[in-house]
Amino acid sequence: MSAQIIDGKALALSLRESIAQEVSLLQKNTGVQPGLAAVLVGDDPASAIYVRNKKIACEKAGLYPQEHLLPSSTTEEALLDLIHQLNVDPKIHGILVQLPLPPHIESKAILQAVSPEKDADGFHPVNVGRLVEGDPVFVPCTPKGVIHMIDSTGLDIGGKRAVVIGRSNIVGKPIAMLLLHRHATVTICHSRTKDLPSVVREADIVIAAIGKPFFVTPDMIKEGAVVIDVGINRLDNGKLVGDVDFDRVKAHAGWITPVPGGVGPMTIAMLLQNTLESAKRFAQ
Ligand code: NAD
Repeated sequence: MSAQIIDGKALALSLRESIAQEVSLLQKNTGVQPGLAAVLVGDDPASAIYVRNKKIACEKAGLYPQEHLLPSSTTEEALLDLIHQLNVDPKIHGILVQLPLPPHIESKAILQAVSPEKDADGFHPVNVGRLVEGDPVFVPCTPKGVIHMIDSTGLDIGGKRAVVIGRSNIVGKPIAMLLLHRHATVTICHSRTKDLPSVVREADIVIAAIGKPFFVTPDMIKEGAVVIDVGINRLDNGKLVGDVDFDRVKAHAGWITPVPGGVGPMTIAMLLQNTLESAKRFAQ
């Protein structure tokens, strides 16, 4: 049996269409156009592509995009000044600081300077706390997209065994927390997990967020499991792949996401949705 593909591109497109409708309705009824400020420091090519794609997505959905492309020599003080300006700019309802920042800037200080009420990525400690308490305001975009993709299969997450591979603050931990709030029994695996394959084999839902190509192999997957691949890895031949050995795992899984065209497009759609929801709160 071959797994059904969860088409992130198609899901994201339909989300973006409904976001565009809501944006135009909000603007008509309240005069508020959701605004997203994206801040990029330095010239990392991958980050530049992400920021450009986010800007295009904003424009297509009718949001107001504001781009701040700063040189890598930007000081932490100057960046903090910009964040403080954006925090009080009435045209801006979401602020996104593209990571990674250059090594001379302390990312933690920058993320904490973003107003928790405009924290479109959901990385501020206040929003992390709200998420842990089960009463989130901004849910981080990739984890939010992952849950939407699982829901699209029709699977009831409640009571299922879920294994998240990867424990980063921006992907692994928030995904685990969201699954827990949806009543899954959640295990987080990481680089020091003993006998990781046997843990993953128990899962009805597997989330791979590691950053290592072909890490998840068919022998780790229970027949019929939902497999969500968050990883983005560039091979030496230029090909983009996830963390899952897609071609072989799809014979075992019930549902699987491709890379590219899986979680990536969902992340951008959720960023638009977070900004729209924020603008609605400001409009009230
Ligand atoms: P990270 O490097 O911060 O975290 C990786 C995690 O993997 C760590 O918690 C680590 O414990 C775990 N890990 C590393 N080696 C391991 C091993 N051998 N066995 C088990 N666990 C291991 O990365 P991140 O920011 O969480 O991102 C993970 C991947 O997801 C990356 O490929 C990144 O590019 C991708 N990503 C994709 C999107 C998207 O929109 N699709 C968004 C964010 C991140």
